[in-house]
Amino acid sequence: MKEGIHPNYNQAKVTCNCGNEFYTGSTKKEIHVEICSKCHPFYTGQQKVSSARGRVEAFNRKYGINKAE
Ligand SMILES: [Zn+2]
Repeated sequence: MKEGIHPNYNQAKVTCNCGNEFYTGSTKKEIHVEICSKCHPFYTGQQKVSSARGRVEAFNRKYGINKAE
């Protein structure tokens, strides 16, 4: 096996605004994210689906994505 194929590749510690920490493969050593799979409304469970959808629609309106209306 040749070494040095991924010279800067290591486990990056990812810290989220919600306090969740996890590790991922990255060329960086530490990553800070505002949202993760634990706190993102898309992932956090069915009870938030309706409010999340409302936010998405507001977002689409704000940026003119929803051109059907
Ligand atoms: Zn999070």
